[in-house]
Amino acid sequence: MYDVWKNALAEIEQKISPANFSTWFQDTSLISTKNGNVRIGVKNTFFVKQLRNRYLDIIKTALENNNVVINTIDFEVQTSSKVKPRSREITKTDIDLKSHVKNYAKTLKTESSRQTGLNKKYTLDSFVVGSNNDLAVSVAKSIIDSPGSRYNPFFLYGGPGLGKTHLVQAIGNELLRRNPNFKIFYTPIAHFYSDFIDAIQNGKGREFSRKFEKLDCLIIDDFQFIVGKEKSQEEFFNIFNDLYQLNKQIIVTSDRLPSQIKTVDERLATRLTWAGAFDLQLPKFEDKCAILKAKAELMGAEIEDEAIEYLAENVNTNIRDLEGELSSLLVMSEVRGLTPLELIENGSIYVNKTSKLRPTSPKQVVEKVAKFYNLPVKEMCGKSRVAHIKNARQVAMFLLSKELSLSTNKIASEVGVKDHTTVMHGIKKIEKDLKLNFTLRDEIESIKEKIYG
Ligand code: ADP
Ligand code: MG
Repeated sequence: MYDVWKNALAEIEQKISPANFSTWFQDTSLISTKNGNVRIGVKNTFFVKQLRNRYLDIIKTALENNNVVINTIDFEVQTSSKVKPRSREITKTDIDLKSHVKNYAKTLKTESSRQTGLNKKYTLDSFVVGSNNDLAVSVAKSIIDSPGSRYNPFFLYGGPGLGKTHLVQAIGNELLRRNPNFKIFYTPIAHFYSDFIDAIQNGKGREFSRKFEKLDCLIIDDFQFIVGKEKSQEEFFNIFNDLYQLNKQIIVTSDRLPSQIKTVDERLATRLTWAGAFDLQLPKFEDKCAILKAKAELMGAEIEDEAIEYLAENVNTNIRDLEGELSSLLVMSEVRGLTPLELIENGSIYVNKTSKLRPTSPKQVVEKVAKFYNLPVKEMCGKSRVAHIKNARQVAMFLLSKELSLSTNKIASEVGVKDHTTVMHGIKKIEKDLKLNFTLRDEIESIKEKIYG
């Protein structure tokens, strides 16, 4: 059975830390989605506040991605000692969902009488092009100009919150705008499965396949959730092959390459990247500023350049978080009657979002530290006791330990010192200095940026 909240939760789980997920979402439920008025059940009023302040956007996106039409979202404290069991909601949700899908189809009627699964808010116009995504965007444009030709299938991958869903839905929306008779279907892979299983259980397997055979463009989102269940994967493979042979456009997103997904059949994995694999990367500082500016403009909000730069500098996870921080800042600005920059300057807002950084090689770390301090690697890793050279060496030790978790022995050999006690001493020294020395803090942040940026 199609369980919209379960699917939404699965999506939310991908976007926030496990600790936050279990704290805030464990006992939530979807009460109803009637007429676009979404009601979510929570444990107590504290949760209402937290969910609304911190996770409203994420909840909204997750529900929208599951085809729920949203006008308002309300949180309700469930008076019973326990939040309603899920199984009961599923039926209710299910009924609500059906009527919503119908409404949703109706809203699309002017353009298309079919349900495409596309959310019209994702457009190419609102997708900011930068160094992190320009290649993918140019492929997207080429697909819009001639679907089913050169880039087929279009395999788009990248970490969460980097714009995969936005970009592929934008392709779908633009294709539909240009070719109103085009049959396009967007679906997260998880829904593909649940729909397939539903169809089989109701003896409608054949109809299910036929629906897909008729498509001009199939968009599959979050392919990493493909499960190894033979029958459904085989069904997907068949649909894929049929469409491919007819030169119909296939678009697939995933958070990683097919070869890195354990449950995927090898032949399918190969085929998915026949036409290449294109990725979305983390935005650089300038990209982040451009995105923030565009978003603020879209929201009709005023924000100082310095405030934008502050956010761009301090959100290093993904674009979803960037958007989230911008929204909170703008909301707070409205509530407090202060400008975004005033809030930052008086310390009401403190943003620091950094993801676990990608691993890199010890050599790279050593080189970046030496370069930062304007020293030849040989000199930094030599015997000099001159204070600034020694300091650079200790910073390298510290970073090798913190970022790469190398053993002190290994670090000793990387930075050219004899024994590991010198390394231990060096790391401790930097740790201690960091507490009060703000210049050193900045230096280390800058080096980290150089390492990972
Ligand atoms: P993913 O599917 O990769 O997890 P999404 O497509 O859901 O990411 O993007 C997360 C949020 O960031 C969305 O609100 C999306 O509109 C926004 N976003 C991502 N990339 C861009 C971009 N280049 N320009 C504007 N907004 C973007
Ligand atoms: Mg997505």
